[in-house]
Amino acid sequence: MTIILGGGISGLSAAYYAANNARNSAITLLEASNRVGGWIRSKRSPSGAIFEQGPRTIRPVGLAGKNTLNLVEDLQLNNKLIHIGRSHPATQNRLIYSDEALHLLPTSLKGFFKTLSLLDRPLINCLWTDLAAPKISKEDESIYNFVQRRLGQDIADNLVSPIVCGICAGDAQKISVNFLLKSLFEAEQKYGSIVKGVLANRLKKFFSKSKDTVKENNIDSANLHLTLANRAQKEYWALWGLEGGLEQLPQALANNVRKRGVRIQTEAKCEKLTFKSNHIELLINGNIQESSRVISSLPAKNLAEIVREQHPILSTELEEIPTVTVGVVNFEFREDVLPLQAFGFLVPPKENLSLLGVIFDSCVFPQKSSTVLTVMMGGAWFEKYFGLNPSEDHLLTTAIDHIKRILLIEEEPIAHNVAILKDCIPQHVVGHTQRIKRIHDYISAHHIPLALCGSSYQGVGLNDVILSAKQAVDIVQ
Ligand SMILES: Cc1cc2nc3c(=O)[nH]c(=O)nc-3n(C[C@H](O)[C@H](O)[C@H](O)COP(=O)(O)OP(=O)(O)OC[C@H]3O[C@@H](n4cnc5c(N)ncnc54)[C@H](O)[C@@H]3O)c2cc1C
Repeated sequence: MTIILGGGISGLSAAYYAANNARNSAITLLEASNRVGGWIRSKRSPSGAIFEQGPRTIRPVGLAGKNTLNLVEDLQLNNKLIHIGRSHPATQNRLIYSDEALHLLPTSLKGFFKTLSLLDRPLINCLWTDLAAPKISKEDESIYNFVQRRLGQDIADNLVSPIVCGICAGDAQKISVNFLLKSLFEAEQKYGSIVKGVLANRLKKFFSKSKDTVKENNIDSANLHLTLANRAQKEYWALWGLEGGLEQLPQALANNVRKRGVRIQTEAKCEKLTFKSNHIELLINGNIQESSRVISSLPAKNLAEIVREQHPILSTELEEIPTVTVGVVNFEFREDVLPLQAFGFLVPPKENLSLLGVIFDSCVFPQKSSTVLTVMMGGAWFEKYFGLNPSEDHLLTTAIDHIKRILLIEEEPIAHNVAILKDCIPQHVVGHTQRIKRIHDYISAHHIPLALCGSSYQGVGLNDVILSAKQAVDIVQ
C-alpha cells in the first residue's frame, strides 16, 4: 500500500505516476483541505472572465517542460491547451517599474546596444563588466551578491532583484545562486566568468546537437504523429495555459487516477508519521492508518511537524526551508485600460513598495472583450507592509491604488477577487542544495520508506514539481 500525502499538483502527479506502475496495487492520497489542486485555483468573475489565484502559465522548455506536456497529452487536455509564441507581445514586452516610470526591457539584439532608461548604460556593457571581474571560488552565495560582483550593482538592483520577485516572490539577497541560477554560477566557478562559461556551453551544445538532429529527424520521419512537446519545440511556443483556467489540470489528474482505483480522501489531515520496523503508521484525524510506503508532497514545514517526534534532526532541516506569503488581487475592467500589450511589470524591492508585480492576464490569453489584471503583493516583505493579520479590504485598496497610479487607470473595475496565500512559496535560500542533500542522506541512512516531492525541494515551477513527483515514485518503487 502506498500513501501519498497532499493533493496539490505534485501529490496528484505522484498518484498518476504511481498508478502507471502495476506493482502499486493500492494507492491512497490524503489531502487536508476540502479540495484538490493546492495553490492552483481558477475562479470566474460574474461576466465569465478567468481569475487565476495561483499559477497561470507554464513554460514548455527543457526536460521538465516536455514531461508536463506529455502528461497533458495523456490526460487528453490537448483541445483546451492555449499557447503563445516568441513573437507575441506578451512574450516580447516585459516592463519594470522604477523611479516612478515603466521601463521596457530590450526586445531585440539592437536593444542591447542602446542605453536603457532603467540602467543609464546599454545592457551589452555587462559583458565587459563580467569579463573584467575576478573569479571568486565559493560553494554558494545570494543571487544579489553574485550579480553585483559579476555584472554590477545596477543590474542586481534594477533587473535581477525584480525578476527574482517574479519567480518566487523572494528577496534576491537571500535566494541561492547555486540553486536558482546554477548554470551561471557554475560558468564562473568553472570558466572564470559568466560570458566564457556560457560561450563554452553553447559550443558544447552546438556540437552535440548536430549529432542529435540527425537522430531526431529519423525519429520524426518514422513518427507521423507529432507529440505536444514536439509541436511546442517546432512552433517555438513561449508559454502555454488552459482555456477555462489551469485548475483543469489537477481536476483532470484527480479524475484520471480515481478511475484507475486511487482513493482520494479530502479533509484527511496527516497529524503524525511513525516509521515502524515493517510498516508505517499515519495518524489521520485521530485514527491510525497503515502503509508500506509514503510519498510526501507536503510543504517541507508541514512534513517537519509530523515527523518531529521520531526524527527531530530531519524535522529541523525541513523547517529551515522558509516560505513567503503573497497577496493576490485579480481585477476585471470593461474596457482596454492598459498602456501597452505586454506580459506585465515587475517592481524592484529598492522602490520600497508592497507591490511585487502586475500580470496583464488578458494580453497573454485574451478574455472576451474585458481586461483582466493580477496584482501580486508582499512576498518576502509581506509582514513589513501588511503586518501579521491584514484584512482583504486593506489588500484590495492597496492594489487599486498601485494600478491606478502606475498604469494611469481612471476606470473602476467591474469585478475583483482577493486572496491572501499564506506561506505559499518556498524560498530556496543560500545553502539550499546542501540542505536537500543532507535531507536525502538522512532518509537513506535511516532506511526510511519515504520519498519527497513538491515545491520545497527541486524548484517552484509547475514543471519542476510534476517532474519531482515522477522521480519520487521511482525512488519508492
Ligand atoms: C501566486 C502564485 C503564482 C504562481 N504562478 C506560477 C506560474 O505561473 N507558473 C508556474 O509554473 N508555477 C507558478 N507557481 C508555483 C506553483 O503553483 C506551485 O509551486 C505548485 O502549485 C505547488 O504544488 P505542490 O503540490 O507542490 O504544493 P501545494 O499546492 O502546496 O499542495 C500541497 C497540499 O498538501 C496539503 N497538506 C498540507 N499539509 C497536509 C497534511 N498534514 N496532510 C494532508 N495534506 C496536507 C495542502 O492542503 C495542499 O493541498 C505559483 C505559485 C503561487 C503561490
